[in-house]
Amino acid sequence: MTTSFNPPIRKLMGPGPSDVHPRVLGAMARPTIGHLDPEFSRMMEEIKDLLRYAFKTKNFLTIPVSGPGSVGMETCFVNLIEPGDKVIVCQNGAFGGRMKENVERCGGTPVMIFDDWGKPIDVKKVEDTLKNNSDSKALAFVHAETSTGVQSDAARICGLAKEYGVLSIVDAVTSLGGTPVLADDWNADAIYSGSQKCLSCMPGISPITISKRAADVIRSRNHKVQSWFMDLNLVMGYWSGEGSRAYHHTAPINSLYAIHEALVMLAEEGIEQAWERHAKMHRALRQGLEAMGLSLVVEKKYRLPQLNTVAIPEGVDESEVRAILLSRYNLEIGAGLGDLAGKVWRVGLMGQSSKEEHVTLFLSAMEDALLQQGAAIKTGVALPAARTVIQ
Ligand SMILES: *Cc1c(COP(=O)(O)O)cnc(C)c1O
Repeated sequence: MTTSFNPPIRKLMGPGPSDVHPRVLGAMARPTIGHLDPEFSRMMEEIKDLLRYAFKTKNFLTIPVSGPGSVGMETCFVNLIEPGDKVIVCQNGAFGGRMKENVERCGGTPVMIFDDWGKPIDVKKVEDTLKNNSDSKALAFVHAETSTGVQSDAARICGLAKEYGVLSIVDAVTSLGGTPVLADDWNADAIYSGSQKCLSCMPGISPITISKRAADVIRSRNHKVQSWFMDLNLVMGYWSGEGSRAYHHTAPINSLYAIHEALVMLAEEGIEQAWERHAKMHRALRQGLEAMGLSLVVEKKYRLPQLNTVAIPEGVDESEVRAILLSRYNLEIGAGLGDLAGKVWRVGLMGQSSKEEHVTLFLSAMEDALLQQGAAIKTGVALPAARTVIQ
């Protein structure tokens, strides 16, 4: 007979999900109430305020979409893009390719700007493309490319979009909570994120924030949004205000308890302090890795603290190393994707997984696994090097 499923207890240091704090798991286990219950309604208002805090925005249309980051992505595209629209899409990794797919499926025409995997988006190319395609409806790009560990200059790219009168759509799935996402300062029009990366909640919720300019565009569309489920004109009937909520779809009630708790924890720590912690743990990891003789593949000024792409040393079986970490240390890291497959490991330091204990466990476990592989590394030096940063 099939019995209950009891997962092993892992330390999650891949590209997401990250470790979920017991407070968030506990919140998820609280009693389910109705999605129109006045008490639930009160909590929904708090979630919207907490998300405004996380996104650094006053945008009214700031809500948690029911679904993973991909649903947040799709929500932005299906609501803003109509058949025939031209959309500039920047691609410097895996997720920009998904944006292109979204544009095409909305009946739009993508104008692509390609940069190499491992490099940031070239702002000069963005400006040139905007100049030559000023009739575009939107410009879409990934702020933090989880496939490569690169951060692009969102402030400048959104600023250029604004200058040319084009809506900006920003993927901040991996950045929100880990590095600054400044919706209002950037003048961004649509930003989507995910619950399971630096917010350290379970997967399945996607926070989004939409500017007033973009909200007006959504309200005055020529065609109905082709997705009934993601049509923000309908979804807002449920999320828009206390006392006047109408049923659209049943909210993922317990998951919303969880994102509420994760955001309360972020506010307790302070978002600036959370950014600082991510930066510091990244520096500790880097010191340890470099002392051991390993290196990060991304140029220093573009590195994402929460996602580190580590070059695989000569002669090492990369999947064997990941298997050793998982079986011997219950530690999960990620493999390379696309152009970086087989060349790097992806080591996440996201949210609750961005702590001293994660950095030191990873460095110790990596040393052990690499020695077993016969790699030429320096032993006994990684932890002291990391501790010079942490102390
Ligand atoms: C993880 C991720 C997504 C997709 O999120 P899901 O929750 O897996 O759907 C999109 N963009 C980026 C940059 C990501 O890291």
